[in-house]
Amino acid sequence: MSTSLKVEFSFPYGHRLMMHQSLCKNIHGHRAKIVLTFEGKVGEGGMIADFTTIKQSVVAKIVETFDHSLVLNCYDTELIQALKPFGFKIYIFGSETQSRSACEPTSENFAQLILDMYKYSISGTKLIRVEFFETETNSAVAEALQ
Ligand SMILES: [Zn+2]
Repeated sequence: MSTSLKVEFSFPYGHRLMMHQSLCKNIHGHRAKIVLTFEGKVGEGGMIADFTTIKQSVVAKIVETFDHSLVLNCYDTELIQALKPFGFKIYIFGSETQSRSACEPTSENFAQLILDMYKYSISGTKLIRVEFFETETNSAVAEALQ
């Protein structure tokens, strides 16, 4: 039997999918919702961890990183260079050691990126599941291997 904690946050961001052949190739925005599930042992005081500690970490690590940022594939170099002089908050997704597909800022890749951001435990918990909602009805899920 395992016990887990769930925390939920939302933030606006912009992106474009450079490999997409239709509307998603245009720069557009979303209000993301993320639902993170942390697993751990219920310890002294009847808690796995303090929600405040978990939430502060998620805000500092994830929400502040992506909030109001334009998230672009690292291979989208012409656009990145064109926007640089404006000083926009740009998050460059992936690195050139990865494939173009792995660097597309899709819901699937966002969910995996967030999961990877918590490889180490926080307050004795382990992030086991990330659900990334691009819209109210469309989401992708990444789960840690047990
Ligand atoms: Zn989109």
